[in-house]
Amino acid sequence: METPQGKYNVVVIGAGTAGLVTAAGTAGLGGRVALVEAKKMGGDCLNFGCVPSKALISSTRLVHRIRRGPELGLSEMEPSFRFEDVFRSMRERRARIEPNDSKERFEGLGVDVFLGKAKFLSPHEVEIDDGTRLRARNFVIATGTRALVPPVPGLDCVPYYTNETFFDELDRKPESMLVLGGGPIGCELAQVAGRLGIDVHIVELLPRLLPRDDSGASELIRKRLESEGIDVATGTKAVRFDHQDGRTAATVEANGAQKTLATETVLVAAGRTPNVESLGLESAGVKYSRRGVEVDETLTTSQPHIFACGDIAGPYAFTHAADYQARIVIRNILLPWFKAKASYRWMPWVTYTDPEVAHFGPTEEEARAKNIVYDVFRYDWEELDRAVTDSETEGFIKVLAAHGKDTILGATVVGVHAGEVIHEVLVAAKHGIGLSKLSATVHAYPTYSSSVQRVADSFQKTRLTPRVAGLFRWLYRRRRC
Ligand SMILES: Cc1cc2nc3c(=O)[nH]c(=O)nc-3n(C[C@H](O)[C@H](O)[C@H](O)COP(=O)(O)OP(=O)(O)OC[C@H]3O[C@@H](n4cnc5c(N)ncnc54)[C@H](O)[C@@H]3O)c2cc1C
Repeated sequence: METPQGKYNVVVIGAGTAGLVTAAGTAGLGGRVALVEAKKMGGDCLNFGCVPSKALISSTRLVHRIRRGPELGLSEMEPSFRFEDVFRSMRERRARIEPNDSKERFEGLGVDVFLGKAKFLSPHEVEIDDGTRLRARNFVIATGTRALVPPVPGLDCVPYYTNETFFDELDRKPESMLVLGGGPIGCELAQVAGRLGIDVHIVELLPRLLPRDDSGASELIRKRLESEGIDVATGTKAVRFDHQDGRTAATVEANGAQKTLATETVLVAAGRTPNVESLGLESAGVKYSRRGVEVDETLTTSQPHIFACGDIAGPYAFTHAADYQARIVIRNILLPWFKAKASYRWMPWVTYTDPEVAHFGPTEEEARAKNIVYDVFRYDWEELDRAVTDSETEGFIKVLAAHGKDTILGATVVGVHAGEVIHEVLVAAKHGIGLSKLSATVHAYPTYSSSVQRVADSFQKTRLTPRVAGLFRWLYRRRRC
């Protein structure tokens, strides 16, 4: 058992991205830090989230591409693989990243790492479940979220997976899988499962998949999943689960009509719930709700010396959001007199379906709801030479600009590598670079990024008003004389 080293500057609870960044940053600046983790160092992202999902996505993208061989002049072929080997390879790749987040690495950085579950005894002391007590000047709550298992009757009596079991306990290929939830996690894993030969049904309560994204993007993803053989039921509620003869029967309801879907197994991807229970937040005087720990813009909780960051604080549940917030917390602990505020104005996100969906800023739907007057510029990847040469034309780039101005408000990119392409537009938007400058920047040919220049060109064309066009015609006429 680790022995506490007197009073700490900071005790961090939770060793996911938010906790790890806070602990490493504070120790790096010379602070004395204790980090407490209840389950696995690295949290969701490394163990049950981004890393294993992206590894599986990579394998299944190749599976799918091999099946599409004839489009590229190859003979028709069915990829040969063992389901178990694909998962083993995913775990091997995850294991290569694991040392970055390990107890040993963090101890090497000067952090005292304690394995166990922490709870507050008072606003100034936490206790780990082995009885160790830690006192500190500041505390950081970074306990993340877990899969929300909705209270659908019978769900608790049928076998189901969540992101915490899918990657390590799915040890043979089920014949069928019902994916409950059509958000990013549900869509990504449904596509993975479908490509591995599982018969997949997605059941989503809301009217469309990826509800926080551009509606055109969500429609494109729906069509793609359906074209790959996945059954997508949106606007559909799971009302009951029954377990009969080793199989699960899910009763679902849409527009008042019920039907039953038979499935071997279920993946619950129906949202997240914060890890606030058993943290002793009442003893600490920290306010929380069913959405997580309440924080202000400086990520300070209702106790001025206790901070929260990452998924537990929201509003975004992304690894890069956790990293961003942790950096602010480090700074605000060190310099409490001049606290920095978190701003989410330029927060990007990517759903790693194939094709990817990348976004930042308001969608058209949000802009309309907020009465933002905007112009929209769109370029379809059907016309993008690189997409054509790669046979990856399903996609588009859409930029929202302030009406009549050269100011980027937001963008959506759908397509292969969309998650890379979005960043050029994001950097431009954040630093006040408008579409005209993007249009005037030479982009290498033939790249996916050149779609940014193309969409910016379409903005430039709007500047060719009838008056300017008339002037140009006059100039050409004169030159011909
Ligand atoms: C399937 C899936 C795919 C994802 N893919 C992406 C992606 O591609 N890109 C992206 O940006 N984000 C992705 N995410 C989201 C990303 O994983 C999270 O946003 C990120 O992990 C949040 O980090 P965190 O530190 O806030 O919380 P977590 O990673 O959840 O870490 C919290 C830690 O706190 C520990 N803990 C909880 N209670 C206690 C306690 N009382 N005492 C001690 N320790 C405690 C937990 O065990 C956990 O290790 C994905 C998530 C899932 C589920």
